[in-house]
Amino acid sequence: MKNIRAICLYCGSSSSVPEGHREAARRFGRIVAEAGASLVYGGGRVGLMGLAADAALAAGGHVIGIIPRLLMDAEAGHGGVSELHVVETMHERKYKMFTLSDAFVALPGGLGTLDETFEMITWRQLRLHDKPIVIVNEADYWAPLLKLFGAMEHNGYTQPAHRALFSVVGGVDAVLPALEREPEPTLDPATKWL
Ligand code: AMP
Repeated sequence: MKNIRAICLYCGSSSSVPEGHREAARRFGRIVAEAGASLVYGGGRVGLMGLAADAALAAGGHVIGIIPRLLMDAEAGHGGVSELHVVETMHERKYKMFTLSDAFVALPGGLGTLDETFEMITWRQLRLHDKPIVIVNEADYWAPLLKLFGAMEHNGYTQPAHRALFSVVGGVDAVLPALEREPEPTLDPATKWL
């Protein structure tokens, strides 16, 4: 895949979620491994995060987990990943996930998933980076969010040009083709501002 060596996955840490979402996470882990890219993620065994990591590992992939010491118990730090980075703060976690990755993918998730995904979108809006971001609208899970994006634009809080900050696909099989369509990043990430 063109210049995409590592893909960061943001997704839910809950396990009590629809089986279709769980299967999408497993499938995405396999897809990344089979494409020969590393999977960068939050480093836990819980929820969709753990399913994606386990599937990538089972397919022979390279998995990099980044977990804050604080969450080693709550999110069950994954001892079986290729690299587990235990960091001190939540900010350090997000920053490391950002610097190690060439693209960002959001599967269904909760508040943490939204926080992480929006940080990448807003940093891109500020031109602090131009790495691609893909939102996977699995089973229409993100429809209310997509509606909110429409309301933001309708009310003048965002501009039509902001639509290019991320792409939306209907399922995990469409992620790599979407990444192939994205322009090559040209910005040197402005990490001194982060
Ligand atoms: P959730 O979507 O709420 O299940 O959370 C998904 C992941 O986001 C979990 O690994 C959370 O620990 C993580 N997360 C939540 N808030 C933050 C934050 N402020 N910085 C970094 N990671 C976070």
